[in-house]
Amino acid sequence: MGQALRFKVGGEDAVTSRSAGAVREIGNSSTSPLDAYACSAGVAKPPFLQLEQVFKRFGVFPALRGIDLHVDDGEFICFLGPSGCGKSTLLRIIAGLETLTSGRLLEAGRDISRTSAAERRFGILFQSYALFPNLSVYENIVYGLRGRKSRAELARRATELLQLVDLSGTEKKFPAQLSGGEQQRVALARAIAPSPRLLLLDEPLSALDAKVRVHLRRQIRELQRRLAVTTIMVTHDQEEALTMADRVVVMNRGTVEQVGTPTDIYYSPRTPFVANFVGKMNFMPAVLKSRTKLSIGNTAFDLPRPCDVMTDGDVLACLRPEHVRMVQSGGLPATVSHVEFLGSCWRIGLDVPALTTNEVLADFTGGEGFAPPVQAGECIQIAIPPERIIVFQTPTPLGASKA
Ligand code: ATP
Repeated sequence: MGQALRFKVGGEDAVTSRSAGAVREIGNSSTSPLDAYACSAGVAKPPFLQLEQVFKRFGVFPALRGIDLHVDDGEFICFLGPSGCGKSTLLRIIAGLETLTSGRLLEAGRDISRTSAAERRFGILFQSYALFPNLSVYENIVYGLRGRKSRAELARRATELLQLVDLSGTEKKFPAQLSGGEQQRVALARAIAPSPRLLLLDEPLSALDAKVRVHLRRQIRELQRRLAVTTIMVTHDQEEALTMADRVVVMNRGTVEQVGTPTDIYYSPRTPFVANFVGKMNFMPAVLKSRTKLSIGNTAFDLPRPCDVMTDGDVLACLRPEHVRMVQSGGLPATVSHVEFLGSCWRIGLDVPALTTNEVLADFTGGEGFAPPVQAGECIQIAIPPERIIVFQTPTPLGASKA
């Protein structure tokens, strides 16, 4: 069922439908009369969801400290961050399960900060499957639709949803007769049964084993794309966030550190915290002599593009292990301190006196057969591609540790 939303366009009170179908239409670039009007009137269409300076305090503890964020129609957003950074609190505020201390939450321009969870009618899926153990799969799925649809419609909807989550034929089973992954898929079917405008997922995969997680995350992503339902998912698992999200919101201590596509977040982290939290990173003290001249230890680098740091002096240079290259000649001397097998590659610890007194990590692929590419104690040469070096202003503390 679609729900009519009201917001002001050019001084007029306008109404638009945001059923799943309508969302799909907008996503398919067909411009609605409302969009056309908004464009011609020079009025920017408000985002699907907007958070303005959202603060949340539990007693004196500031769990959220001024969150600004927008979510577009049909987007898949992940809140990523270490334990206790405020991800679930933010999701619960969006769901209406928690009140904000100050700030505003707008849905298509309409202030819903004080609207109850029941009125918002967003679909919610938690880590624990939260199925009714005494109800069958069928009854669990149609639970929220009862009284709103005929028996025949309920049956049709349940069949359709079970097909969507790949569980056809399980209608009569009870939750205890299903695996964890299957129960979570039933819970997902129940969450999307009323065709919510927004689907909120709080660590939906964290109780499942690794293989089921990977399978289910792909299934959730495909389902989300097919239904074009705007989705926000909380996770502390960076792989989950990078593989599933259109945009990742990296949080730290109640604030947003960076919002960006998975590749932005991984290749262009904006803060040392993001660089440290997402993926593996080498951090090396360095000195900036101009915006393109950098010294790490006693090695000089010419950066191909001016870095974002505007002031010369002490900086922090960062480099991903997979960007360190082993070369035959003309490189920096390095001694292998340890070798670790990661499956897809070998992680090599290196002493590189010309760069830093810290260990430098490098990811190399294997040598002949299954042999490691280098041995502990071996002397090799490495090259650092200057275009891969990320420079941060000052060596600030790296904040919370990885979850
Ligand atoms: P996790 O990944 O461990 O679930 P999170 O990032 O989702 O962590 P939140 O659950 O949002 O973190 O909690 C943020 C902070 O707010 C934590 O320090 C937590 O202890 C605190 N907090 C959350 N709920 C309450 C509450 N009801 N009363 C007091 N403090 C709370």
